[in-house]
Amino acid sequence: MLSDRDADEIARGRANGVGGPLIGKWVDQLLADRKERVAQIRYLRQRLKQAFTYLDGLLEGRKLPAVHCPRCGKPYMRVSGLSPNGMVYFHADRTECRLEPMNGRAHDR
Ligand SMILES: [Zn+2]
Repeated sequence: MLSDRDADEIARGRANGVGGPLIGKWVDQLLADRKERVAQIRYLRQRLKQAFTYLDGLLEGRKLPAVHCPRCGKPYMRVSGLSPNGMVYFHADRTECRLEPMNGRAHDR
């Protein structure tokens, strides 16, 4: 993701009228940053929908079905994000499964 320092450098460069090939580099950086932010927002929206379903179920007094780990298939108690866009699934038996899609692999721990 583009750091605040990089973004400030781009803003300063544009304000000072910098042109040429540097503009292409900045556009590439901004597009990569946008792609990453869109992925983060998509993930956040998915988690918000899950949270809504869970909380709405509590209000309705519904017994919620167990949620299953996509890695091992066992129910999990809790899940948390793993920067930049991985997931860690925590099981009742204190094992964890990690999914790290950035490198295309997943592994148990
Ligand atoms: Zn698992």
